[in-house]
Amino acid sequence: MSSNYMPIEELELYCRFCDKITPAQLNRSIAENGRTLSRNSTFEYYCTKCSKTMCFSGNDLAEQEQSGEEVTARVYSPSEHYFIGNLIQHKKFKKGVVVGKDNGTPSKILVNFEKSGLKKLIQDL
Ligand SMILES: [Zn+2]
Repeated sequence: MSSNYMPIEELELYCRFCDKITPAQLNRSIAENGRTLSRNSTFEYYCTKCSKTMCFSGNDLAEQEQSGEEVTARVYSPSEHYFIGNLIQHKKFKKGVVVGKDNGTPSKILVNFEKSGLKKLIQDL
């Protein structure tokens, strides 16, 4: 097996069609059709509730090795870059998981906080 980049297979994603956070799965047929995969590849996920697909750049996705491991939360700072699947520690909202991205200016992450619910936070400032 090569050392190709492969994002995590199952994610909690914000599905804009369901308008809630749903389990999503990597479309492996597209991810593994022989192309060389890297952080710059595009990966397709489908919502397990409505089957609609969402595409993300590898630059926005946590890597496969990181899933299943004991993950430590990253302290939130607007100047940092985050990946979908990352665990975040926020001063005010406490613990949350990155469930989506908003690639506007500035770039934003969508975080589902255990207690405070869904919030948009700035990244890459
Ligand atoms: Zn959905």
